[in-house]
Amino acid sequence: MKDATLTRKSAADHRSVIALSDTVTIGGETLLIVGGPCAVESAEQMEQVAQHLSSTPVQALRGGVFKPRTSPYAFQGMGEAGLHILADMRQRFQMPVISEVMAIDQIAVMADYVDVLQVGSRNMQNFDLLKALGCTTKPVLLKRGLAATLEEFVMAAEYILSHGNPNVILCERGIRSFDTYTRNVLDLGAVVALKQITHLPVMVDPSHAAGKRELVPALARAAIAAGADGLMVECHPVPEQSVSDARQALTLEEMATLARSLDPIAAALGRRLATDGMASMPETAEVSGAIAIAA
Ligand code: PEP
Ligand code: MN
Repeated sequence: MKDATLTRKSAADHRSVIALSDTVTIGGETLLIVGGPCAVESAEQMEQVAQHLSSTPVQALRGGVFKPRTSPYAFQGMGEAGLHILADMRQRFQMPVISEVMAIDQIAVMADYVDVLQVGSRNMQNFDLLKALGCTTKPVLLKRGLAATLEEFVMAAEYILSHGNPNVILCERGIRSFDTYTRNVLDLGAVVALKQITHLPVMVDPSHAAGKRELVPALARAAIAAGADGLMVECHPVPEQSVSDARQALTLEEMATLARSLDPIAAALGRRLATDGMASMPETAEVSGAIAIAA
């Protein structure tokens, strides 16, 4: 990765801490746990999710409003109406929100409503989208492509940084392989390697890796043990009724239990969870690299 100069670590302790809001960060001592449904389906659904998770170590909410679906006939997301719901949750529960951006012309409208713009696996090498996101200051959650090498993944991040946006969070979400028992194969070796090569925070999404809810908690714990800076996990008030990715969604109770179960693992690694129901204090650790308050 000879040209990956901006993402590359310059010293063993060089790491970036990225701010999602005034109080929520990723890359420092506090692990960032993100929970929420695959897709925003209604205000009631998101309110139940936010209400439940706001009293747990989960600090940020997720929910897609522009959904990349395999079939053009499947639910494509609520669109802008879903953004209004996310913004309402952000304001009422003081939790940053994350949602996927699929096209350049969605960036401007999304930037008003969400704290982190997610680039999905299918768009990891949509270079024009990456360049456009590089021209903003919004934190970008860049998910690894379905079959992307680490070189390709890091270079995709490099596209965003080289256009001026240092706020990139990498997300391992499983890669495609021959076995169909799990939806994808969670590559924890990638987490270790990315933390060694780059200074960027690394998250893990065990939901899309596993594809089956009963596998998610153990994979989530393994990801934290491997050194991930955070997790993004799909959960739903009634998982079986999820309009997308129902099979992998946890209940809200399971999500809360999972988040709390990370405590001893975090402690063993010299890290911690946000205190239940409270946004974490700003990081005090000395930080080199990118720090930006979400605009
Ligand atoms: C998602 O987060 O809902 C999603 C579509 O993820 P991925 O791009 O990793 O498949
Ligand atoms: Mn999903």
